[in-house]
Amino acid sequence: MKYLSEFREASKTKLFIEETKRIVRGKWTIMEVCGSQTHSILSSGIDELLPPNITLVHGPGCPVCVTPKEIIDTAILLSKKKDTILFTYGDMLRVPGSRESLFKAKVDGAKIKMIYSPFEVIEFAKSNQEKKCIFFGIGFETTTPSHASVILKARELNLKNFFVLLSQFRVPPAIEAILNDPFNKIQGFLAPGHVCTVMGIEEYIPISEKYKVPIVVTGFESVDLAEGIFMLIQMLERSENTVKIQYKRSCKPQGNLKAKEIMKKVFKIGPQKWRGIGLIPDSGWILREEFREFDALNLLKEKIEEIEETKEGCIAALILQGKKKPFECSLFGKDCTPLNPLGAPMVSSEGACAAYYKYKKIVD
Ligand code: SF4
Repeated sequence: MKYLSEFREASKTKLFIEETKRIVRGKWTIMEVCGSQTHSILSSGIDELLPPNITLVHGPGCPVCVTPKEIIDTAILLSKKKDTILFTYGDMLRVPGSRESLFKAKVDGAKIKMIYSPFEVIEFAKSNQEKKCIFFGIGFETTTPSHASVILKARELNLKNFFVLLSQFRVPPAIEAILNDPFNKIQGFLAPGHVCTVMGIEEYIPISEKYKVPIVVTGFESVDLAEGIFMLIQMLERSENTVKIQYKRSCKPQGNLKAKEIMKKVFKIGPQKWRGIGLIPDSGWILREEFREFDALNLLKEKIEEIEETKEGCIAALILQGKKKPFECSLFGKDCTPLNPLGAPMVSSEGACAAYYKYKKIVD
């Protein structure tokens, strides 16, 4: 398949690994930010092929994993109100809130529907005017433009029964939070190719300059990741603290100007809580005043409590910050499995714990 199979070729992947082995001199710790990259690295075995002086750690780039419990609780509360229906993506259903998941609430009678596109909610709202239709959406800068588009469509149609509950994350402030940690050991980053396809690289250049770290915008197939690692090691060996793009077939330095324009029309930068990490200033996209009528929180009178994040023994916070690996959690593969997830990184298909369970199964 053109544009896919050639980026999964084992021979090309090995070539970049061999080149990396040839040039590496120092001891380096690098982070792939995105959960899809983690899965690709583990499924292709890249982590095991690299020399021992290169350590890969996994970042917070799984939106399901970092969505706070209180947002799940809020979604459940909204879905149980009279005349409301909550619509969300399938991967949100099994994520545990503080008491239950959306799936459990649905089994118990809450009005929750799974969708593949937020525009399905618009169609439903148009023909069910007596229902309050709430789109529950999460994501990084990859999904934010489509969330903005659906709100603009609701405005165009003058829909009064369409609402949104959103948890939208920005990647650059999360990278800065990791770099500001006094115990940080990460020396270079593989930035997420899809996020930078939308946003470009202009937000990453000041981070690279300020913290003196190289950043390579990388794709998601094994050849992409092996090449991205090779480029990053080459930059580390040369003390070249800049931003380069490996994922050139999709990402342009300026990003997608139209998508950025749409998202900035509807949202502005604001604070966002990350599950397992806490509140990071300026790390979210929140509704502008002129679109507040669509905010599903307008339908709530109840106050949602701030929640302690983790179950006893769950080290998701440390995993999401790249400080520990899933097999260092004593619950991994025993009490916590994809069928019985205790933390979000085991629930999500992009979560690091789920990736280790699927591809490594290191359980004694
Ligand atoms: S294996 Fe389960 S309990 Fe352990 S950190 Fe991952 S999600 Fe939490």
